Amino acid sequence: MNTTAATGHVVLRGAELVLSTERDAACVVRCLACGAESESAGQHAKAAAVWAVLHAHEGGLEHGQFLVTTWSHWRVRLRCGG
Ligand SMILES: [Zn+2]
Repeated sequence: MNTTAATGHVVLRGAELVLSTERDAACVVRCLACGAESESAGQHAKAAAVWAVLHAHEGGLEHGQFLVTTWSHWRVRLRCGG
């Protein structure tokens, strides 16, 4: 079996089955000081980064630490034509 970096579409390739990402990753950012959350950034992680900078700018640097949650969708298919 081969593995590739998360940026590739194929995550794991077996003899008969292939696991691959279905869509681009999405992410949400949460402020550790007040719990405010960005909206899901969908395919545009940079939108979440912009939200974090604006949140720290408005709230002060005590609102400058964040938990970033990212997720992606995987699907297993037959290796040949599945
Ligand atoms: Zn905050």
